[in-house]
Amino acid sequence: LSIEGVAVVTGGNRGIGLEICRQLASNGVTVVLTARDEKRGAEAVSTLGTLGLSNVVFHQLEVSDPSSAVRLADFIKEKFGKLDILVNNAGINGTISEVGDPESFRQELAGMDLTGRMEIILKHVTEPYEQAEKCLSTNYYGIKAVTKAMLPLLQSSSHGRIVNISSCYGQLRFFCGEELKQELNNIDNLSEQRLDELSELFLTDFKHGQLETRGWPTEGGFIAYKVSKALMNAYSRILAKEHPSLCINCVHPGYVQTDMNFQVGHITVEEGARGTLMMAMAPKGGISGAFLDLTEVTPF
Ligand code: NDP
Repeated sequence: LSIEGVAVVTGGNRGIGLEICRQLASNGVTVVLTARDEKRGAEAVSTLGTLGLSNVVFHQLEVSDPSSAVRLADFIKEKFGKLDILVNNAGINGTISEVGDPESFRQELAGMDLTGRMEIILKHVTEPYEQAEKCLSTNYYGIKAVTKAMLPLLQSSSHGRIVNISSCYGQLRFFCGEELKQELNNIDNLSEQRLDELSELFLTDFKHGQLETRGWPTEGGFIAYKVSKALMNAYSRILAKEHPSLCINCVHPGYVQTDMNFQVGHITVEEGARGTLMMAMAPKGGISGAFLDLTEVTPF
């Protein structure tokens, strides 16, 4: 990638997003670090500045507000005229946690294996309907709005790439119905309109406690999160098919130590950003429409 490359990272103010910004900027890419909160975003840019990275600029972006994405696109168009890399990283897990003091909760979890941790975490989180709705509007509709606003700019690049930070929780193995799994996997028969419809059907089923009937995930919590990432994956594949000149892939970063999991993930943000960097910096003609588990291509 040329040193003139320009990247946008959503949710760049902390966690994996901040680390992706750091690594891209360290590779000579000009990074537009975006955050929904101006203050948190500006602080993140200044943190990277103290590491000697002066090629990072801030722009506000609330991914669930399409007009915010349009304002970002206008800024990029005026300043750079094109976009080479879009990293859709911003996301929420669709739960409300009631853990008391986060630090003592983190310490309680730290000594346990993954199964033990998940059991405890599930006892401390709830998934109210409003959070499910928010989760879909951030992780699915948000990604679509940002992507749509950025597409013309990516098409002005000689090699545009989109990396969607997904999750292994979005893999179809978590769905309980074969028919629904097949529908979401059969990209040739799937449309964006149908994905929107499925999203609405999911929310209705979730509200009425009827997850099993249509085949949504039912076990292990983080239900809306799983659905939001599966819809994101399917959208990513549809987009990759429609835009063969772009490289568009989904990456599961691994179980990374961030606020999203009370800082008890297995790997550091440095390691969690690897797959994304690999896809963001890949030379022209690389894979598109794929799902990567860390750095390995894996079935959806
Ligand atoms: P964090 O909770 O640490 O960071 C999430 C980031 O997303 C924050 O910058 C947050 O901003 C931002 N964000 C959330 N909602 C919005 C919104 N509506 N508009 C703009 N920004 C928003 O999480 P991680 O770094 O762990 O997660 C990053 C991505 O990686 C997510 O998509 C997540 O699903 C995925 N992932 C993470 C895993 C892990 O183990 N950590 C595992 C698998 C996937 P703010 O600071 O303002 O809240």
